[in-house]
Amino acid sequence: MRETTDILISGGGVAGLTAACALGSAGFRVICVDPALPVTSDEADGADLRTTAFLQPSIPVLQGAGLWPRLEPHAAALQVMRIIDAGGAEPIARLTRDFDARDISDQPFGWNLPNWLLRREMVARLEELANVSFRPGIGFSRMLVRESEALVTLTDGTRIAAHLVIGADGRQSPVREALGIGAKTCRYGQKALAFAVAHDLPHGNVSTEVHRKGGPFTLVPLPDRDGRPASAVVWMESGPEVARLVALPVSDFEAEMTARSSGILGQLRLISRRSVWPIISQIADRMSGQRSVLLAEAAHVVPPIGAQGLNMSLADLACLLSLVEKHRDDPGVAAVTEAYHRRRHWEVRARVTGIDLLNRASMAEARPLRDLRARALDLLYSTKPVRQTLMRAGLGLGAVGAGTDPS
Ligand SMILES: Cc1cc2nc3c(=O)[nH]c(=O)nc-3n(C[C@H](O)[C@H](O)[C@H](O)COP(=O)(O)OP(=O)(O)OC[C@H]3O[C@@H](n4cnc5c(N)ncnc54)[C@H](O)[C@@H]3O)c2cc1C
Repeated sequence: MRETTDILISGGGVAGLTAACALGSAGFRVICVDPALPVTSDEADGADLRTTAFLQPSIPVLQGAGLWPRLEPHAAALQVMRIIDAGGAEPIARLTRDFDARDISDQPFGWNLPNWLLRREMVARLEELANVSFRPGIGFSRMLVRESEALVTLTDGTRIAAHLVIGADGRQSPVREALGIGAKTCRYGQKALAFAVAHDLPHGNVSTEVHRKGGPFTLVPLPDRDGRPASAVVWMESGPEVARLVALPVSDFEAEMTARSSGILGQLRLISRRSVWPIISQIADRMSGQRSVLLAEAAHVVPPIGAQGLNMSLADLACLLSLVEKHRDDPGVAAVTEAYHRRRHWEVRARVTGIDLLNRASMAEARPLRDLRARALDLLYSTKPVRQTLMRAGLGLGAVGAGTDPS
């Protein structure tokens, strides 16, 4: 037997679940499949212990998806992005520059939330949407694309005729592969450690990147934990260094991370497990095929710098929503898939290139390069219009436009 739907989403990660909530809230019939079960508690095996800083332009997308009222009570606001260069002889802060959201807006830059909690609230939201069927434990297997529809076969043998297929199935995207779309990948030999810490000094809603070598050490505010200030940490280093750090006894690890943070929040205490993430850059050659589009890491992967990854994915989703709204009867027509590729690919390319450069600068080992990096930061910061342009571009509000069609 064959089922029919407006939209089939392959992938129930944070991006696929958000897309299911948003497109379901917009009234489309949606089926979302994922072979993995969503882990919705921080203590469960396989919990995603990373956090996501949602930047300003992502909030309307979450509001439209009916998610923001559920998420806002758990979010920590990010008012200042602090960049510290600690690339001198000793691991101490030798240059500190604050990018304050007040310079460009009356709102904070963004709001930070744990990924496992996002999944919990997204799955709960899907239960309110009668027109969305979320099927964890079942994956996308293959598809046959025709002029009028895409015929998808799932891993349990179910066959689904969909107007539009969304590949939100991660960096190895099976949908991308089924479409024959290639991807360019850059490996840095780097990994990221993600974990949570409590600290003596309050974070004051300041998100801080400390640059020395190997990649940034980033502290992002969390709500207080058991009455103590807390932050999420992403610590990027070479693969072998991360393997060494993750194997350290907790007290040694705490001493090393406190030193690496240049002591800016006082003594850091580990309050979660340590999870390890490989770091790559990747961009798909195209963002769409016939009757299908690629979303989020299926289309683009960036190192976790400046909270760009999932925010780019929500910009993909905002663009897709604006296009399918105009083609409610058939959201998979070429007018949607082609315009989506044209509008998103150039911007995604620009961001992937920019973040690649920032990552390489942060990895610099040699002292002269580290000194150059500090001088460049100082120069970019010192002129207010340049500083404001950088902040707006980082948020996706300014220089790099949000979804306008350059063609
Ligand atoms: C350490 C770290 C910190 C980060 N911090 C931030 C941040 O602060 N802000 C930000 O914007 N971004 C951040 N990111 C990026 C962000 O986490 C990712 O963009 C996001 O989690 C990726 O989501 P995704 O849904 O595209 O992919 P995934 O989470 O990989 O989801 C893909 C899903 O597809 C499923 N799948 C696989 N095969 C199939 C199949 N055959 N059929 C159906 N489904 C399938 C998988 O099971 C998986 O659930 C960070 C990344 C890292 C590594």
